[in-house]
Amino acid sequence: MNKANHLSVRDAQHCVLQHVATLNSEIVKLEHSLGRVLAEEIRANRDQPPFDVSAMDGFALRSADLASTPAALTIIEDIKAGDRPARTVLAGQCSRIMTGAPVPAGADAVIRVEDTQMLDEGRVEIHCPVKPGNDIRRLGEAMRNGQVVLSAGTEITPGVIGVLATVKCARVTVYCRPRVAILATGDELEGLDEPFDANKIPNSNSYALMAQAQALGIEPVLLGIARDDPEELAQFLRRGLLFDVLLVSGGSSVGVHDHVRPTLEALGVDMHFWRVEMRPGHPVAFGSTASSIVFGLPGNPVSSMVCFEQFVLPALRRMMGHPRLYRRTLAARLAHPVSIRPGRTEFIRVVLERDAAGDYLARSTGSQSSGALLSMAQADGLLVVPSTSSGQAAGDLAQVQLLDGTVFQSEAGFEGEA
Ligand code: AMP
Ligand code: MG
Repeated sequence: MNKANHLSVRDAQHCVLQHVATLNSEIVKLEHSLGRVLAEEIRANRDQPPFDVSAMDGFALRSADLASTPAALTIIEDIKAGDRPARTVLAGQCSRIMTGAPVPAGADAVIRVEDTQMLDEGRVEIHCPVKPGNDIRRLGEAMRNGQVVLSAGTEITPGVIGVLATVKCARVTVYCRPRVAILATGDELEGLDEPFDANKIPNSNSYALMAQAQALGIEPVLLGIARDDPEELAQFLRRGLLFDVLLVSGGSSVGVHDHVRPTLEALGVDMHFWRVEMRPGHPVAFGSTASSIVFGLPGNPVSSMVCFEQFVLPALRRMMGHPRLYRRTLAARLAHPVSIRPGRTEFIRVVLERDAAGDYLARSTGSQSSGALLSMAQADGLLVVPSTSSGQAAGDLAQVQLLDGTVFQSEAGFEGEA
């Protein structure tokens, strides 16, 4: 690989992933497993349902008894969910049955209570015929004993938690989460707890990066701010290299005060690249040691966040065992033309709307300066203009990489009524 020049976003992503493996696994309680990734295959521990059960509140009966309706049947038993039926349903008989209760011997169908009328205490009139099997959930219909219900690599969502509880998995084996450290560098930076100084720049990157990691379920450690001094920087970096992943903000480009790359190299980090043909985010660096990976992220706040999305996020997701490493993209039409300098992949902050035809429409959030953090805060996604392009016209289709917060909308988006 050409280390210094003309590395594309795709090549840089592949380079990062070559140096990243899925972590070991650990056992956690089901209650604490949301968002984790299963490191084991899960099998059903019994047939579900364990016998034929009713899908409705109603009456279990013999469908042949309803050859002509209305028909009057004698109620011989009440069966609730959790009961074992005691009696066999014979011709002219039925049992009152609740949803989830076992279907009694002799009965081959259930009719819902809405299609019946009580005649007296012990007799019910059935209004319409039913087919054999009506409203019965069959033994093993949902899952078979021993069947693989969840494979390793499954992300634990609320639905997956429901399945795990169904098979009585109180503890699950999941992939570990990486230990991540975040270091800001720069003489100009002022910490959140320091007094306001008009000459300084607030250290926003540490917190934005922290939140990007938290959004992935990782609790990073903030190492603070290192001044642009090789000695001090080396001390901080040594601490940071004890983590699985070290994110260094600022100091990665080629200014005389940018000491990050040489200091990392002096500490034994093998640097794989230090710039990528992209905008924002050109001066992004990546290196590794035997036990950790290091990202040198650009100091400009938007560049820092965009580089996290492209390079750090897939690496963290691989470590956590996710098979799907990248943010979802969708095709959207441009609301206006965009022009770019060819040769670099450009990420444009956009909001998404729907046009009259229901297609997504992407509109720039305004200034695309790499310091315009407010426009990152407003963005639904990053519109990707490929490096081969010099721009696109209004109405053209483009890929938009969705950011956090895009899975909700202000209207339900469908008709609730038939
Ligand atoms: P650098 O990559 O170190 O040359 O930084 C480029 C610019 O990014 C600096 O001039 C700062 O304005 C800004 N910057 C650097 N670090 C941070 C940070 N931690 N938080 C916010 N802005 C930063
Ligand atoms: Mg700097």
